[in-house]
Amino acid sequence: MTQHLDPRSPWVISTHDLGKRPGTMLERRLSLPAPADLGVDMIGVPKDAEVELDLRFEAVMEGVLVSGTARAPLAGECARCLDPISSGIEVALQELFFYSDEDASEEDSLLDGELLDLEPTFRDAAVLALPLSPMCGDDCQGLCVECGVRLADAGPDHRHEKIDVRWASLQGLVTENDNDQEK
Ligand SMILES: [Zn+2]
Ligand SMILES: [Zn+2]
Repeated sequence: MTQHLDPRSPWVISTHDLGKRPGTMLERRLSLPAPADLGVDMIGVPKDAEVELDLRFEAVMEGVLVSGTARAPLAGECARCLDPISSGIEVALQELFFYSDEDASEEDSLLDGELLDLEPTFRDAAVLALPLSPMCGDDCQGLCVECGVRLADAGPDHRHEKIDVRWASLQGLVTENDNDQEK
């Protein structure tokens, strides 16, 4: 199924300079704005952040083989303490874009004339590289489960006497019952 690509999209790249002769190769460094909605719950690549690509375009019999690396910044929240964190990912890209759907299967990528769309390739690779539970640091102590304070701020002596908490609520119950009886 040939889908028509929008040549104005930054991730749609022309292979015009490469030509179709198998064995021809072209290297390109590109800096492209990150596509929207590239992330999971806690972390992702901010929209329009700069993605640096080192790419190699190679004409092969069936199409154009694109390989290389992409580097993108990440922004999100620490899964333990919810502090903002920023880091980055570097992912390897490799995709064969077929000239014709006769050679390709359903999942394969196709060229639209001389154009190819690198966004899905980058998106798939980037999503796989996102940390499932990002952390601000290996030693993040997270939040206090009782009161939610950041344990790094609260200090090592921070604790709650759990028995006291339960006792207090029991006392609350008793007092309420007493009040009921008095009515
Ligand atoms: Zn943290
Ligand atoms: Zn606490």
